[in-house]
Amino acid sequence: MPLSPDMSSEDGAVTPDVVAVPRNEGNRPNLIGLPREALRTAMIEAGASERQSKMRANQVWRWLYQRGVSEWEAMTDLAKPFRAALAEKFELQRPEIVERQLSADGTRKYLLRISGGHEVETVYIPEEDRGTLCISSQVGCTLSCTFCHTGTQKLVRNLTAAEIVGQVLVARDDLGEWPQPGQRPQDIHESGKRLLSNVVLMGMGEPLYNFDGVRDAMKIVMDGEGVSLSRRRITLSTSGVVPAMARAGEEIGCLLAISLHATTDELRDVLVPINKRWNLESLLQACRDYPRLSNAERITFEYVMLKGVNDADADAKRLVKLIQGVPAKINLIPFNPWPGAPYECSDWDRIEAFAEIVNRAGYASPIRTPRGRDILAACGQLKSASERARREKVAL
Ligand code: SAH
Ligand code: SF4
Repeated sequence: MPLSPDMSSEDGAVTPDVVAVPRNEGNRPNLIGLPREALRTAMIEAGASERQSKMRANQVWRWLYQRGVSEWEAMTDLAKPFRAALAEKFELQRPEIVERQLSADGTRKYLLRISGGHEVETVYIPEEDRGTLCISSQVGCTLSCTFCHTGTQKLVRNLTAAEIVGQVLVARDDLGEWPQPGQRPQDIHESGKRLLSNVVLMGMGEPLYNFDGVRDAMKIVMDGEGVSLSRRRITLSTSGVVPAMARAGEEIGCLLAISLHATTDELRDVLVPINKRWNLESLLQACRDYPRLSNAERITFEYVMLKGVNDADADAKRLVKLIQGVPAKINLIPFNPWPGAPYECSDWDRIEAFAEIVNRAGYASPIRTPRGRDILAACGQLKSASERARREKVAL
């Protein structure tokens, strides 16, 4: 049975039924995903002196996150005996790509295996001016939003920081986007043509219920000597874990997206049940209080278009009233169906009429083009393909 939001603690943290463990088959700790300070401690454990540990940690850090190296032997500026000591004590474990699907529209979906035999999905969406990686923060989700397929699956556990940043690393492997020998990291960054230029935490799971893992992973993604993406190119989407929102602004500094989907508490209680715990009023207040909120760094409100449920003109009018005073844009998401879903997507002219009302009120209201629908990679569809494949296997 999925955990209910009421089982989470006061600060919004949830206790998954299996505690996250770093993947370390041979019982050696995994160095991927560790914050810099912890990496430094690991260097000392491998025999580096206190004095040298910072430099060694910086070297390893750059190999891992600037060069994408996953073998100790490749770290050629470390003495051989030190590399051997590291290899003896620690692992460099990334998620393993089990399956890679390519959509007709260029979207790539990766099915990744992580420790415990669990699987998560990551989606790469190429666009004209950017390439966005949609990453997962949990296996399944504790929150049971009624229109979301992930929400029908039991939460298994939080992903570790290694598994979260690992999704970025394996995607960059697959895209061939690491600097070649002789090339400086800034050469590929400066070209302005990064294949993986943006990260959205919009895959499986509620990122603010896995705060530490998400924060540690994003720190690596933002680090100038790491993957080096600007904090403004990272968007965290939350269903509304109000007490953790300000922390996300302060400790990560990323952009925020809110899964709004309804304009009355009555309807939102049904569509996004976490609303029973933190209602629209408290959610909107937390948005107004979000650190660094400005016209340049607006909040995105996501709004899934459900036929006859939340798509009337009256909903659109209430929506613009509700978010009054918040620098915002509204992302209208056509509902992506999944087997057994209790909703249908609104008709196209209804979505356009809704967008028009929002637009006239002065808010940008892009309609999100579904990407990768043919490989079930669109919003809210993740995990369904692999689950179905498994069911078919069992049936054989
Ligand atoms: N748990 C987080 C992030 C993951 S969901 C959250 O809820 O914000 C990413 C976005 O996809 C959310 O806005 C979510 O509401 C939306 N979504 C979920 N299921 C969907 C579906 N079937 N069709 C369209 N959007 C969906
Ligand atoms: Fe979880 Fe987000 Fe899906 Fe809701 S929409 S069930 S919070 S993944």
